[in-house]
Amino acid sequence: MQAIERKSPIHAPMTQFAVADGELLVGGIPLTQLATRVGQTPFYAYDRQLLTQRVEQLRAALPASIKLHYAMKANPMPALVCHMAGLVDGIDVASGGELKIALDSGANPQEISFAGPGKSRKELQQATAAGILINIESFREVAELAEISRETGSQPRIAVRVNPDFELKSSGMKMGGGPKQFGVDAEQVPELLAEIGKADLAFEGFHLFAGSQNLKAEAIIEAQCKSFELALRLAQSAPSPIRFINLGGGFGIPYFPGEQALDLAPIGANLDRLVERARHELPEAELVIELGRYLVGEAGIYVSRVVDRKESRGQIFLVADGGLHHHLSASGNFGQVIRKNYPVAIGNKMASEERESVSVVGPLCTPLDLLADRMELAAADVGDLVVIYQSGAYGFTASPQAFLGHPACIEVLV
Ligand SMILES: *Cc1c(COP(=O)(O)O)cnc(C)c1O
Repeated sequence: MQAIERKSPIHAPMTQFAVADGELLVGGIPLTQLATRVGQTPFYAYDRQLLTQRVEQLRAALPASIKLHYAMKANPMPALVCHMAGLVDGIDVASGGELKIALDSGANPQEISFAGPGKSRKELQQATAAGILINIESFREVAELAEISRETGSQPRIAVRVNPDFELKSSGMKMGGGPKQFGVDAEQVPELLAEIGKADLAFEGFHLFAGSQNLKAEAIIEAQCKSFELALRLAQSAPSPIRFINLGGGFGIPYFPGEQALDLAPIGANLDRLVERARHELPEAELVIELGRYLVGEAGIYVSRVVDRKESRGQIFLVADGGLHHHLSASGNFGQVIRKNYPVAIGNKMASEERESVSVVGPLCTPLDLLADRMELAAADVGDLVVIYQSGAYGFTASPQAFLGHPACIEVLV
């Protein structure tokens, strides 16, 4: 009998950042030099070149006529949004604050859309004044926009965000299907469209978003097909011809051991078929997809410095100057059910042969402040730089910076 060796799953290789002389390079700059240039640790660094490459790769895999939008809640850093605005066809915002950044970025207001539950009267007024597209998420929003239209004489541009009658399978976060706070249930949409028809509103299309962080091409394909069918069905009750269908996104990136990059080829092939169908069945409609994490997540790292090294009952702890207050999701506390390690490296010791199993913790006085749990890393000491990969999305602005009163984090676009 042979002993069965059970291999534990490993992280997908992180090859997007080059390495030279044992140091990780961000935008061609060695990490220790970048840390000096930034003037402090911890910091987030995003690589322009990688952002550009990602959009190019995606465009090459998808039909040319698909409109690509950046959902900026994934990373609203103004300089990064500016960079993205020059690459994509539109920006999706989810608040009045994000709208300001999107408009400042120089994006064409015609190509900015606003989704999110509970839009305030003020946000609806701002959006109307800016001439952007508003994704309607309730009957109340229609009524308020009808009033705004009457009061101001400017006609709000709207689409209907539909809560579909299906879910995105294998999705990290489900944002459609079943009872949800997002959008209007598909079965209520004909009634909503009738209300829209009575008001002075410019109806342009449908928005469907089933969920986030999906690594299974088949599941995304199924959601896009069902979204398309649903939009076709609902289009029959529309007060005017459909100008676009936003099929959502949900493309994931590999974070945890055992996860692999999404296979774009079958998604591109499926979108080819949908584009062809749209040409016949809804000739005036464009197809849009909107992505956040997939566009920016892999282009960013979070860098902190080791400030202490301790041993406790046989386990080595590297205490870093950064932690969950800057990077909640790497600590496992942003929607994860079971905590798993992000890919981590010692960024100034990339070629080191000497490796050891360590836990990387932050400076917060809570056991939740864990960045790496018993991971094999290059042997490190005080002064070395801990890099967390896959940190370009849902990092800086998705973390409780004020928790425990440590210094603020910085973001740079390199
Ligand atoms: C959050 C969100 C996105 C972006 O999701 P990712 O998983 O980051 O791609 C897109 N559209 C809507 C409506 C969202 O709420």
